[in-house]
Amino acid sequence: MAREAIDARLTPSPAELRPLSECIGQTLRQDVYPERDNPPFDRVCMDGIAVRSEVAGKGVRHFAIEAVQAAGAPALTLVGTEGAIEVMTGAMLPHGADCVIPLEEYDVAGSIVSLKDKVSAEPYRNVQRRGSDSRPGVPMLRAGTRLGAPEIAVVASAGLARVSVSRQPSFMVISTGDELIEPGQPIADHQIRRSNAYAVVAALREHGFGKVGDDHIPDSETILQDRLGRHLAEKDVLILSGGVSKGRFDFVPKVLKSLGIDEVFHQVAQRPGMPMWFGVGPRGQAVFGLPGNPVATLICLIRYVVPAMSAMMATRVDPPEPIALASPIKRGRPTASFVPVSIQYDAQGVPSALPRMPSGSGDFLALAGTHGFIELPPRADAHPQGFMADLYRW
Ligand code: AMP
Ligand code: MG
Repeated sequence: MAREAIDARLTPSPAELRPLSECIGQTLRQDVYPERDNPPFDRVCMDGIAVRSEVAGKGVRHFAIEAVQAAGAPALTLVGTEGAIEVMTGAMLPHGADCVIPLEEYDVAGSIVSLKDKVSAEPYRNVQRRGSDSRPGVPMLRAGTRLGAPEIAVVASAGLARVSVSRQPSFMVISTGDELIEPGQPIADHQIRRSNAYAVVAALREHGFGKVGDDHIPDSETILQDRLGRHLAEKDVLILSGGVSKGRFDFVPKVLKSLGIDEVFHQVAQRPGMPMWFGVGPRGQAVFGLPGNPVATLICLIRYVVPAMSAMMATRVDPPEPIALASPIKRGRPTASFVPVSIQYDAQGVPSALPRMPSGSGDFLALAGTHGFIELPPRADAHPQGFMADLYRW
């Protein structure tokens, strides 16, 4: 299996301390513990008045306001039995009080508060108890977690300004081909826009990889030799597209080998993406040679490169979700095949995958608007509606 062959040859990325503001999308390499109880005190969670529940429970309806307790101030003390302290959301619950009546449930005349009818006053109503969310000693986040916005908030709540995350590998995304022309440049009939490199860079960035350069190399053995040699000296991961098939100008495998890259595999029994190449350099550099056809490039990137990078970064990721085919796929194939799909939901909210078959490996327009692709196993017959397949999201 190609995935296992790749993982077996990659070395885990080292951990490094990074400022929290630069950690979005990164993989945590430490467990994160609360620095203290969370919430750290009995916290008021409505604007209103704090009273003694026992007194209100006995039917007392009028309370005298003694003071105002704002968020960010040390706890005041409620003195009078029939007294109240005006409290703000986020404030400490005043000593002596154990219940918060929200301001919608009383009227105020001068300093006297009158509760409306049927106001309840159970102990700790509208109070979030100290330590009810988390306590020191119990980790809030585990190593291997990918940091999204909620997880970043958790790290900040633990008081950490810097946190241990996997070091980002440096990437070079390389498209090969004499026919390729940069967007923004004039183009002739015999030329093709260099779309793959943009798609690959975009997908890497979406998956949290920030150190991504790109280059375009013509189909010349000597130029490839020179430029790939330089990239191999400087980068951790090379992702090439094009030039890995059996054509006269497909020099990539030969040049990589001559540069000391150990070929792990060339060709995978799959469609699209059969020509895919993978090798490892003397410093452990990972080199992916993806087929140039745009559908194959993106599918191979998401199916193999991104998961391999996640494994290298020690990221915990969910396995691909199984999903049912929304409509049959008439033709079975002798190899595994990948089919772009849109996810749709029936009236009960059950998802299924609607095939959006490209007309060929070059038809990347068919990918726009899809959610990902499914992997179908080799099979002689058609894949019926309802057939369960693994879904890979873009
Ligand atoms: P190759 O794998 O080099 O034989 O390329 C296969 C097909 O993909 C050819 O039609 C190429 O023109 C096309 N192709 C290769 N690289 C790119 C690219 N970066 N962007 C768009 N199309 C490409
Ligand atoms: Mg080519």
